[in-house]
Order: sequence, then structure tokens, then C-alpha cells
Amino acid sequence: MSQKLEAFLNENLEDLRGQGLYNEIDPVEGANGPIIKIGGKDLINLSSNNYLGLATNDDLKKIAQETIEKYGVGAGAVRTINGTLDLHVKLEEKLAEFKGTEAAISYQSGFNCNMAAISAVMDKNDAILSDELNHASIIDGCRLSRAKTIRFNHSDMEDLRAKAKEAVESGQYNKVMVITDGVFSMDGDLAKLPEIVEIAKEFDLITYVDDAHGSGVMGKGKGTVKHFGLEKEIDFQIGTLSKAIGVVGGYVAGKKNLIDWLKVRSRPFLFSTALPPGDVAAITAAVQMIMDSTELHDKLWENGDYLKAGLKKLGFNIGNSETPITPCIIGDEKLTQQFSKRLFEEGVYAKSIVFPTVPKGTGRVRNMPTAAHTKEMLDQAIEVYEKVGKELGVIS
Ligand SMILES: *Cc1c(COP(=O)(O)O)cnc(C)c1O
Repeated sequence: MSQKLEAFLNENLEDLRGQGLYNEIDPVEGANGPIIKIGGKDLINLSSNNYLGLATNDDLKKIAQETIEKYGVGAGAVRTINGTLDLHVKLEEKLAEFKGTEAAISYQSGFNCNMAAISAVMDKNDAILSDELNHASIIDGCRLSRAKTIRFNHSDMEDLRAKAKEAVESGQYNKVMVITDGVFSMDGDLAKLPEIVEIAKEFDLITYVDDAHGSGVMGKGKGTVKHFGLEKEIDFQIGTLSKAIGVVGGYVAGKKNLIDWLKVRSRPFLFSTALPPGDVAAITAAVQMIMDSTELHDKLWENGDYLKAGLKKLGFNIGNSETPITPCIIGDEKLTQQFSKRLFEEGVYAKSIVFPTVPKGTGRVRNMPTAAHTKEMLDQAIEVYEKVGKELGVIS
């Protein structure tokens, strides 16, 4: 190894470990369902994004297996050579139907979807107004485009309006985009999409909503844009196929001419191998399930409301979530980590999230209930929260 690299790695790893910021990863031994096994220990899982339990759904497993028998395990090429299977076309038609748009394009992940879509449309002569709490993949996608990124305060519509006005009236930019998460995953709050659309109309902004945590969850399963009835107003509806949908991948849904452009200009579509057939078939079936029935969606909300009520009744600060995401805000970073560790010892897996992911002094344990949890599991988790909360003096 180069001596320079060796020194760089040793110094920085030591520094992180010294500050207690080095993240040790616990491998899950088996499926990521409502109960997981780590180090041979069974734990109630409150940390996955598997909102509807579809990651381990038996029907979807069967569809993936049958498709692998027929198509093999890989797509064999990038989409623009001959990696576009009839399955991909079907999936994209289904996604457009799901999102209420003319067309859709799928990508290998939600992360690379943002890398792909922003830079296919925006360039160094443009500006992007970006909520300060947007996901890392949006931040990286903006950087890659080389457009001027202008951050606005989280969900602060006065700040957005002022910055949109300034950017547009400066005459410096060809195009201006406003970009936001649909659901902010650390607090579970929603973007103020009706106000954002109003401001966008006033200043002719391109609108881009990444609804990774909203699809399957908001709008009776159809997402945050649908929740607000704005399917016709948002230019880019981004989603992931790896959270509520339970598999892997990402997509853009929008007007046909936008999707046509992305098919010729978005680099991960042109230069990275297509999603594997078994996954594509499972995703298409998962989307169909969400469209056919709100049963899993309803169960998810019932469980979310149940967990929230239980923790609130015990005296925990659960913030102002508008979704099933249930933060339990502890405050102090060290105490938050200790809290999460004690939950683990007592049989509950809920990750601590601290600065710099969330502001200093707002450390929290974030709970992600799913449709697959039973009332008994949630009762048991609430009981453990009570025990640990009293022991550590977080509640009295
Ligand atoms: C999780 C997430 C992504 C990344 O999606 P993957 O499919 O896991 O790559 C992108 N954007 C937002 C807002 C997310 O929450």
C-alpha cells in the first residue's frame, strides 16, 4: 500500500474511533423481517425501511424465483444495448400508472436515479433550490450537474420564495429547479408541496420531488404527491423500489418527453447494467399489490399510530412526525447511543441517529414500524422502552 494512503487511513480511522463516530455494522443473520437475528440473538426490528413487509413477501419471492428460472439472474447488458427486457418495459408502464403520469424510467437504485436525473437536465448555467435537509443522493446529484446549488431553510416557504425570486430576477441562470424530499426521514415530516408548487408556478421553476419514504406510505400508497393531489404539477416524481416496494431500484415518473430525454441522456441508464429480471418481476408485482389493495398500507398506519401512542403515553418526546416514522428524541448524543445499546440488550433493534445526521442536541432513536409487526411485538417493544427509559432517566 502507498505510504501516503496508509497514513491517511490510519490517521482518519483513529480519529473517528477516538470520537466514537466509527459506525460498527451488525450483520443480520437471515431475512430483514419484523424479527431479526444478530449475533444469534432475536430482536424486534424497528430499523428497516421495509414498510409494507414486502421484502419477505411469499408471493413476491415465488414470482422472483419463477422469473429467474425463465430469464436467468442477470439482464446481461445496459438498457440501451440489449439489457432492456420486456419485463423492464412492463415495469415502467406500471410505474407510470401507479404515479399517474404519462411515462416512467427505472434505475438500479434510488441513489443513482438522483445522480442520473438531475444532471441529465441541469448544467452549469442553471440553479437548484434545495431544502437543507434533502437526502445525500440529491446533494450529490446537484453537485454532479454543476448547477449552482442554493440551499433554503428546511420547509421554510418564505426563504424559498425569496431565494427563487432572487435567482430568477438575477437573470444569471437559464433554468431554475426546486428540489425536495417528499417525506423527511429523520423526523417523518412532509414537504409543503402545495406551497412549493405555487412558488414554482410564480417563477416557472422545474419541480422535483424525491418521494423515497412516501410511496407505499402516503396517498393511500401512491405517495406524497398523490396525497396532495399534485400529480399533474410535479415535473419529476422520484421514487425508490427498495423501501416500501421491498426490492431494489429507483425511478422517475413524469411527462413522456422528459422520460424520452432521460433514456438518451442519463448516464446510469446508458452505462450501468439494467436491473436483474427476478427483481423487476417482483417489483412490478409489488406495485400492482399496492395499487390493488390498501390492506398493508392500513396495517402500517395502524401499527405506526399504535407505537406512537404507546411511547407518547410513557412520556417520550416523539417529535412531530406526519408518517409512521417514529423518532424518540433523547437529546444528548452519548445518552442516545447508550439508550439504543440498552434497547438492543433487551431485545429491540432501533438505531440511534445523532449529529451530524441530525442537529446537535437532538439525538434520537428512530423507530420504523411496518405492516409486518404484530401488536404483541409492538407491546413488547413499548415495555422495553419503558424499562430502559426509566433506568436512564429519560422518562420518570
Ligand atoms: C433512501 C433514499 C434514497 C436512496 O434510495 P435507494 O434505493 O436505497 O438507493 C434516495 N432518496 C431518498 C430521499 C431516500 O430516502
